[in-house]
Amino acid sequence: MITMNDFKRDDEQLVASELAATERVLRSGWWVLGPEVRAFESEWASWSGARFAVGVANGMDALEIGLRAIGVGPGDEVVTTPMTAFATILAILRCGAAPVLADIDADTGIIDPVSVERCLTPRTRAVAVVHLYGQAGPVEALSELCRSRGIHLVEDCAQAHGAEASGRPCGTWGSFAGWSFYPTKNLGCLGDGGALSTESEEIDARARVLRNYGQSIRYHHPEVGLNSRLDELQAAILRERLKRLDAWTARRRQVARAYADGIRHPSVRVLPLPSDPRRHVHHLFVVTTPVRDALQGHLKERGVESLFHYPIPVHRQDPCTDIGRDPAGLAVAEKHAAECLSLPIHPGLTDAEIDTVVSAVNSFRG
Ligand SMILES: *Cc1c(COP(=O)(O)O)cnc(C)c1O
Repeated sequence: MITMNDFKRDDEQLVASELAATERVLRSGWWVLGPEVRAFESEWASWSGARFAVGVANGMDALEIGLRAIGVGPGDEVVTTPMTAFATILAILRCGAAPVLADIDADTGIIDPVSVERCLTPRTRAVAVVHLYGQAGPVEALSELCRSRGIHLVEDCAQAHGAEASGRPCGTWGSFAGWSFYPTKNLGCLGDGGALSTESEEIDARARVLRNYGQSIRYHHPEVGLNSRLDELQAAILRERLKRLDAWTARRRQVARAYADGIRHPSVRVLPLPSDPRRHVHHLFVVTTPVRDALQGHLKERGVESLFHYPIPVHRQDPCTDIGRDPAGLAVAEKHAAECLSLPIHPGLTDAEIDTVVSAVNSFRG
């Protein structure tokens, strides 16, 4: 089976470096928020083009902590997308704020600035753009819109490690960015991990307090914080894996190019690749088809795993049926949720497997 991910394919050199990193942490006698986390924070800030990075427990916490650090709370609205991992929505809800859903662009699956504008109210405090599938969202238009309205742009970069828009890295367009290092992400650790990055010294300082019980100096708690710390072990693993990230991204781009060139099917639409390849780091490779369950069955028979990202839009989830949304509706998101299918695109795929995936799609009689 050609699976969506295959972590057992990591080469021996990488595994050896991770074992050495593990031993280094084990023998250091210091396991939470220590020198490995500090080193990773500085390496991640520099790699992602940000001024500051703060290691936290996961991507969802990074978003919650960032939103709280910019002052989002009860009574506030945050405009975001119905087509995302549910964690984006949970982070907003956990701040006590209300998510408001804008419709998406059919070519990217990412929020459409025109719909975002229709969602703005006097209570809107921020727009949260999700760089979905690894592609930079319309940050040029959104940062302009947010600036003109005096509200924050914030970035969910959980799928977009290394993507750029107009020569500027994703994660540096907004007030802060939330990153996830869940194992399946483009940069993953051996469990849960995340980071917040920002250009603001003040947001950085608040995030450091919030992630550690709201503690300013030991046993002083000026705020109601979280326990959301990054382990030394995960940080040490991330430092080794970060050395591979550029090569992995390059391989993802090759696979995406091969799929986009090779897939030719009257009822399967490949989401168009951006004309500037730097906009996309191909966390997922998504096609749409009105007969996607049949396509998934066909692929499975041919030994190719596939998944749907995401089959149920946020406003169809039980806790969210009353959620605020674009008064013009969310028709594009509804259609996308019913038709999207993700093909395997991890960097360990062989050329032969890429060919197998392409011919499996092209041989579909649907
Ligand atoms: C994975 C993901 C998250 C959440 O990250 P966790 O580390 O799993 O908490 C948030 N947003 C998006 C778009 C994601 O893909």
